[in-house]
Amino acid sequence: MRSQYKIAVFEGDGIGPEIMRPTVDLLTRLGARGGYSLTFDSLPAGAAHYAETGEALPAASMAAARASDAILLSAMGLPSVRYPDGTEISPQIDLRKALTLFAGVRPVRIFPGQKTPLNLPADREVDFVLIRESTEGLFHTQGCGEVSRDEARETLLITREISEKLFRFAFDLARTRKDSGRGEGRVTCVDKANVFRAFAFFREIFDAEAARNPDLVADHAYVDATALWFVLKPWDFDVLVTENMFGDILSDLGAGLMGGLGVAPSADIGLDHAVFQPCHGSAPDIAGQGIANPLAMILSAAMMLDWLGLRHDAPPLVADGLALRQAVEDVIRAGDVLTGDLGGTATTQQAAEAVVAGLDL
Ligand code: ATP
Repeated sequence: MRSQYKIAVFEGDGIGPEIMRPTVDLLTRLGARGGYSLTFDSLPAGAAHYAETGEALPAASMAAARASDAILLSAMGLPSVRYPDGTEISPQIDLRKALTLFAGVRPVRIFPGQKTPLNLPADREVDFVLIRESTEGLFHTQGCGEVSRDEARETLLITREISEKLFRFAFDLARTRKDSGRGEGRVTCVDKANVFRAFAFFREIFDAEAARNPDLVADHAYVDATALWFVLKPWDFDVLVTENMFGDILSDLGAGLMGGLGVAPSADIGLDHAVFQPCHGSAPDIAGQGIANPLAMILSAAMMLDWLGLRHDAPPLVADGLALRQAVEDVIRAGDVLTGDLGGTATTQQAAEAVVAGLDL
């Protein structure tokens, strides 16, 4: 088993450094106990870095990220710092495109006792994964849409090459979940194939991949109906796969179901690289106060351990990923050391320490 892994770290902007610090500390301690070592390379990038230097994602940071085993990112971007065309600095989107991270993985999990705006029946648990295509779709012309006085145009792009990789990833994930007892082995293609030819094309490629996976169930849903069902019967999903913009919107809805952005992790995964980061942004309104919720960042780190462990056939990392997720869930379930966004009064440090305590580190 390989025992050394190089992790590229983007601390980013706003609350980014505050939630990254305890996460790196936790991972270091887990590695020391589990007999593997993670070395962290902190890389400059983001809005504050752009304001200082005129560069959002320096070439050296990009090269180091490319050479790492995995990338851990907290949050980048500040509403007050923008490119001359008015758009925000978002190197995380540049990373997705440069490293072809086509699969945006957004787990949505609500376990008994977890606060949720839903009125869930007592016997219902929610545990599904939304996969958002993350390199094309309606984000294809991001930053270069055509705008004249009377018209604005952006182009949606769906390619066979990326869609095939995306759907293969979705079916593989459904199979892994089924094998571990977490899902029934069902993949739902979320689209708008009744209105747009591009989505009929998307669906056709999905159906071809479904035919190659007869051991799994495949079905389809329109995106508008999916939004409705997220609220009415979210326990009914297993793995969903969708276009970039649809996934962007549905993943925030999923985070809302879980009780907020502070507990919503994510991963952007390609064939050779992956970035793990919370769904939330840099939260400049609470930055510098030590009150940001670190749990989404920690859950993203748990996803990183799981991905590294499966990729390198390293069971201790997979086991620690699971232990870390369970420790976070225990903290949420216990409810006595929660940050303000979850209705508590704990600081970032106290919430992270509660996770450490649960792991007996
Ligand atoms: P982006 O567009 O970069 O994703 P956003 O505009 O969605 O960012 P966020 O930075 O995610 O905005 O913040 C949205 C709200 O959620 C803010 O009120 C912020 O304080 C809150 N929030 C986000 N992350 C956290 C966190 N980890 N802990 C507590 N509150 C948070």
